[in-house]
Amino acid sequence: MSEEVKKEERSLNFLEEIIEEDLKSGKYKSIVTRFPPEPNGYLHMGHATSICLNFGLSKKYGGYTNLRFDDTNPTTEEIEYVESIKGDIRWLGFEWKNEHYASDYFDQLYEYAITLIKKGLAYVDDSSSEEIAAMKGTPTEPGKNSPYRDRNAEVNLNLFERMKSGEFPDGTHTLRAKIDMAHTNMLMRDPVLYRIKHAHHHQTGDKWCIYPMYDFAHGQSDSIEQVTHSICTLEFVPHRELYDWLIENLEIYPSHQYEFARRNLSYTVMSKRKLLQLVTENHVAGWDDPRMPTISGLRRRGYTPESIREFCDRIGIAKRENLTDVGLLEFCIREHLNKIALRRMVVFDPLKIVITNYTDAEEMVESENNPEDPNGGARQIPFSNELYIEQEDFMENPPKKFFRLAPGKMVRLKSAYIIQCNEVIKDAAGNITELRCTYIPESRSHNDTSGITVKGTLHWVSVKHAVTAEVRLYDRLFNVEDPSGEEGDFKDYINPGSLQVVKAAYAEPSLKHAKFEERYQFLRKGYFTLDKDSSASGMVFNRTVTLKDSWKPVTGKG
Ligand code: ATP
Ligand code: MG
Repeated sequence: MSEEVKKEERSLNFLEEIIEEDLKSGKYKSIVTRFPPEPNGYLHMGHATSICLNFGLSKKYGGYTNLRFDDTNPTTEEIEYVESIKGDIRWLGFEWKNEHYASDYFDQLYEYAITLIKKGLAYVDDSSSEEIAAMKGTPTEPGKNSPYRDRNAEVNLNLFERMKSGEFPDGTHTLRAKIDMAHTNMLMRDPVLYRIKHAHHHQTGDKWCIYPMYDFAHGQSDSIEQVTHSICTLEFVPHRELYDWLIENLEIYPSHQYEFARRNLSYTVMSKRKLLQLVTENHVAGWDDPRMPTISGLRRRGYTPESIREFCDRIGIAKRENLTDVGLLEFCIREHLNKIALRRMVVFDPLKIVITNYTDAEEMVESENNPEDPNGGARQIPFSNELYIEQEDFMENPPKKFFRLAPGKMVRLKSAYIIQCNEVIKDAAGNITELRCTYIPESRSHNDTSGITVKGTLHWVSVKHAVTAEVRLYDRLFNVEDPSGEEGDFKDYINPGSLQVVKAAYAEPSLKHAKFEERYQFLRKGYFTLDKDSSASGMVFNRTVTLKDSWKPVTGKG
């Protein structure tokens, strides 16, 4: 089945239905979406969902997507994060039309605040945050009006101007919308629009000491950019009323907010705050540690953008929160790597074999780079009389269905010959140090006239031609499905065996020229990619994913 057909078959998600209706009714000619990250951490797989959704929709329906940094909270923001976010979006294969910062709109937002004050819809409150909280009421009881609520517009304008000019210390005044302290939606009980914060900002420097709250920045920024469909996650459902109230009372472009469920993945955590803890407390080696669910971590691990887009496409979007099986993500990367990975042989735990009847000093045998790719070509691999196979591929006293090597038994060495084990050599302590074997000269792969059939095929490398490399094997970072949902601290559930290092694996010599952009399948071992820790003195490979898993795709619509 072609990709196109598969996509056609997927039914429209609820956002696509809304957009198609809006286009049909002529409400919009084309659509504008935005991706609005707060630059306070690296992007993770949850963000990838949002990116694929926002950019995917504008691509599908004609229109564009803006990248807008939600940088209204100056203390947590860093340039490093801005750069990593841009790099991650581009790597995923998307390009934004305009790059904006909510801070670009600070002047405009200040003007909007003045409009509200003049309309009698906002006031300066001298209450402390504790006093404001105490007057807020509860979901079942109305709140109390602030004693400053009925200041007239002139007083408010004067105080707000002085807040801006830096006359007051942090926490002494706020600007609040004047809505209804008995409103059933707590967020509508005179929400704070501006707070004083004497802090340096990465874009605006020291120009401002008052900063707009999320609710006063987000919808207004959408409106300034004429975003048609502003998509966010479900926790913003209660904010929609305020979003609409502000747009309506400011009489500005009517953007609309739509919500979908946050994407959670099993066996990991996906909040920047928690991911930051893993980094700062050294549970992982950084934001791009290959065990992290960050885009940079997955990239380093060897994931491809295609596999992540496919994953997001398959899971679609939901209206209710759930936990997505990380097995589906692994399924998607396996599917892609199977098509593109170069096959190579690498022995992790070597057992030496000597082929006693092999008299040629050495020869080259040919092996295909990728049986899934007809244009993949082949490579030459040196074969000699001293080879390494895996320890686990030999048993001195094998059970019945062991089709690998054992005394007197035959196996095929991949792309080379059939060999037979004749003798087991041990050291004084009884450890096996070497196997003496013979090969069947007529059994050479591609030209086998031996008539012998064997059930097992082993990967191998020639001892004197092998290159060594470090191999890092990753497992899930947590040993429970939902570490955030468990009792106690989520870090109590970190899997202590999430990283296993093979210091010296023996690789066929073609891997000497391994490239960062290539993907490899180490036969029978999994999919691997070169890690950035590689240097002239040694290669390091990351295992992206094992070859097989029990996870099966659910048939039907995702
Ligand atoms: P975090 O809690 O990890 O900091 P956030 O929602 O605060 O997440 P933002 O940088 O504010 O992160 O989010 C940028 C965009 O990505 C928002 O539109 C947000 O809704 C979306 N997003 C973030 N996490 C997820 C997720 N797990 N699933 C889907 N969308 C997400
Ligand atoms: Mg946030």
